[in-house]
Amino acid sequence: MSCSFDLAHYRELLEAANTGGYRFAHFGDGPEPGDLFLRHDVDVSLAAAVTMAELEAELDVTATYLLMTESVFYNLASSEGVDAIKRLRELGHAVGLHAVHPNVALDDRFDPIVSWHNPRPEYMTDEIPGAVTAYGTRHFSPETYRSDSNQHWRSGCPHDDLRAGAFPWLQILVHPAIWVYPGETMGETMRALVEAEKKRRLEQLAADGIHVD
Ligand SMILES: [Zn+2]
Ligand SMILES: [Zn+2]
Repeated sequence: MSCSFDLAHYRELLEAANTGGYRFAHFGDGPEPGDLFLRHDVDVSLAAAVTMAELEAELDVTATYLLMTESVFYNLASSEGVDAIKRLRELGHAVGLHAVHPNVALDDRFDPIVSWHNPRPEYMTDEIPGAVTAYGTRHFSPETYRSDSNQHWRSGCPHDDLRAGAFPWLQILVHPAIWVYPGETMGETMRALVEAEKKRRLEQLAADGIHVD
């Protein structure tokens, strides 16, 4: 099995988790033995988040999507943002806030679940009043955490250990854009995203009555 960062291998990862007997859990519950907290920090692309969410729903998997209100890449208050939240909810996923420290404005769009964007060690594990933090000691420890940041699994791709049921429980951070856009390296993948965005921007301009021909 090749551990590429694409949707075919993402599907294999989810199937490995099912084979290993893991249960897709919500932040705020557990952790009980066998819980798998599937977390998606949405840094750059709502479209990629929705694509991933649809694949998960096909496999009866529920995840937690953490969305930004301060992203430079997307606007959660736009019609596109509103539609993305609606779709994620329809598919049965939890929606929380991917926050820029120290701002935690949890309005009614969000479940009270927070992950920090690019966290710094001095506040990363702090508890947040009125919310569950993905980096809190309850849900986060290095032995039960895997992240795909920049197309690199620091401790290796977890598919074998998931299939074998080797983790007592696990929080796994998966960034949708890394898997949805093609590329052998992070640079190639992000360039593919930029090309897709370019096309989308031109369509948005035309839809807004701006002449682009
Ligand atoms: Zn793998
Ligand atoms: Zn982030």
